[in-house]
Amino acid sequence: ATVLAIETSCDETAVAIVKNRNVLSSIVSSQVAIHQQYGGVVPEVASRQHVEIVNHAIAQSLEAAHLDWSAIDGIAGTCAPGLVGALLVGLTAAKTLAMLYQKPFLGIHHLEGHIYASYLSDPTLEPPFLCLLVSGGHTSLIYVKDCGRYEVLGQTRDDAAGEAFDKVARLLELGYPGGPAIDRLAQVGNPKAFALPEGQISLPGGGFHPYDSSFSGLKTAVLRLTQKFQQSGEPLPIADLAASFQETVAKSLTKRAIAGARDFGLDAIAIGGGVAANRGLRQHLQAAAERHNLRVIFPPMQFCTDNAAMIACAAAEHLERGHTSRLTLGAQSRLSLNDVMTLYQTQQT
Ligand code: ATP
Ligand code: MG
Ligand code: FE
Repeated sequence: ATVLAIETSCDETAVAIVKNRNVLSSIVSSQVAIHQQYGGVVPEVASRQHVEIVNHAIAQSLEAAHLDWSAIDGIAGTCAPGLVGALLVGLTAAKTLAMLYQKPFLGIHHLEGHIYASYLSDPTLEPPFLCLLVSGGHTSLIYVKDCGRYEVLGQTRDDAAGEAFDKVARLLELGYPGGPAIDRLAQVGNPKAFALPEGQISLPGGGFHPYDSSFSGLKTAVLRLTQKFQQSGEPLPIADLAASFQETVAKSLTKRAIAGARDFGLDAIAIGGGVAANRGLRQHLQAAAERHNLRVIFPPMQFCTDNAAMIACAAAEHLERGHTSRLTLGAQSRLSLNDVMTLYQTQQT
């Protein structure tokens, strides 16, 4: 199926056309420059910006794919989770177009989109597999059973991995978003310079949770170190701090992903979300997976952070299975991946 999808869950206005697992066009207009002055995403500013840009992005996506509406089999919009005002812009546009052109409409879970980004680098990938989802707002280990069937095995108890990168980058005065900046600096730093806490979750009966994680203690540890250097008047070894922080996150995530794959007998691990672009994480996971005879799949670099191609790819598969959404579907700020199928009615054909 050929699907046009609109993604406006946060600060990227994105529209893409995907034919099954093939990207025909992908337009991403980032608002980073606008939100940078505030040090983070301002919801009301994001919504207004989506309104300004979305129509143009839709026209651009068709033009770049050299298609008109007659070639489109379905229209999708991200409906959850995210900023409700921002989600509503893309979702309403998708519903309106579906009505106007008499096409099936699908609401898509943003995190299911992040999972589907890996299909864009390996179209032969098929469930079951494990997904390590590491984005700006989420850090989850997911057992992918089938399209729309997910079991969240573990999560972060506090900050998401991407959020930790952003917060540590702010401590090191590297600007926003911080992930790419830390990634770059870590290349020239010593990852063993500082021993930092990994953030394990204790279990009541003793031992640690195998899949849950915590990153707020790690962030605090970096804060303490920066304060120590500031008090002593020594210059901050920012490259060493960035490298040590990145190493700790990469090791923590790798350990949990390998444990999940082994415990559930899964032979492939797909990574999703903005932190999947991180070079430290890619290296650690790749090396560990080789030792354990597991396959790792990373999305193409440009589809790690928010984009609409991953949303369209998920929608194309749902559409092939006869899953469509009602036009009354609303935007939801939160929705568990376990509940993705509540978004659809299944058509008997
Ligand atoms: P969510 O998907 O949970 O709603 P989001 O959509 O804001 O959150 P993404 O777009 O998937 O998140 O990812 C953005 C995050 O990825 C930011 O926190 C950013 O710092 C981080 N990130 C991007 N590139 C890198 C990188 N190379 N290394 C580490 N982190 C990165
Ligand atoms: Mg973003
Ligand atoms: Fe995202």
